[in-house]
Amino acid sequence: MYTVNILNNGEWVAPGTVIYLHAFGRHDPVKIVQNFYLVRGRGHTILIDTGIDNLEDYLTEEQERSFVSVPSRTTEELLRDAGVVLEDVDMLILTHLHFDHYINARLFPNARIIINRREWHYNLSPENKRYAPRVGFPREVFGWLVDEAWERLQLVDGDVEILPGIRVIWTGGHSPGHQMVTVETAQGTVIIPGDEIYMYENLEADIPIGYYYNFENVLAAMDLIRRMDCIVLPAHDPKVLERYPSLKIGDPKEIMIARTLREGY
Ligand SMILES: [Zn+2]
Repeated sequence: MYTVNILNNGEWVAPGTVIYLHAFGRHDPVKIVQNFYLVRGRGHTILIDTGIDNLEDYLTEEQERSFVSVPSRTTEELLRDAGVVLEDVDMLILTHLHFDHYINARLFPNARIIINRREWHYNLSPENKRYAPRVGFPREVFGWLVDEAWERLQLVDGDVEILPGIRVIWTGGHSPGHQMVTVETAQGTVIIPGDEIYMYENLEADIPIGYYYNFENVLAAMDLIRRMDCIVLPAHDPKVLERYPSLKIGDPKEIMIARTLREGY
């Protein structure tokens, strides 16, 4: 069993047509957050995606005024608050290779790095370079992966149990080699859907995301999330912080408090 900490770098903004399929007419900019996840258990310290530092740098002044109510926090600060130093992280699972999910990979000198094989080949192939501009796909991190981190890189296919109780599941909707991650906790299975959904609303109102590589795979990923009936932790929905205000899943103390409230002691 593992515990999951919700780590939140802060708030930023995305075009409505990225978050919601354009047919639904939700074109106005949307406030989003940047979440990534710390998983601990069985002697491992695992990160799912890397977070992103200095979110303000990605916003216009107007966006900052309209959308941001908290200062951003760095990945290193968030981990320190959770009692983790960068060297402790022994595994980094990347849901996909979009900058806001991998840009901080270089912070982790000891982590085995798990990436879906299709995602790796798609992004590293010069044939696809016109779809991978530097701004969204920082190449210096790719360079680091093929140099300093080369021996620690592990490419995976399909549905793989990475450790007992931790799986990656290829979905390939949002990006060609996109994978979701499931984690077993004492509160049940957690599913980290990466960007196959941005918001709970994508799932609950049945409005698919607007940024995708393979639309049918997006729909299949949404169906799979529904069927699995797990604790769902999206990367960009501010509601994650409202639904799980302790920012912890599977912590024995949290479970006791929940049980006490439920049983009315
Ligand atoms: Zn993405």
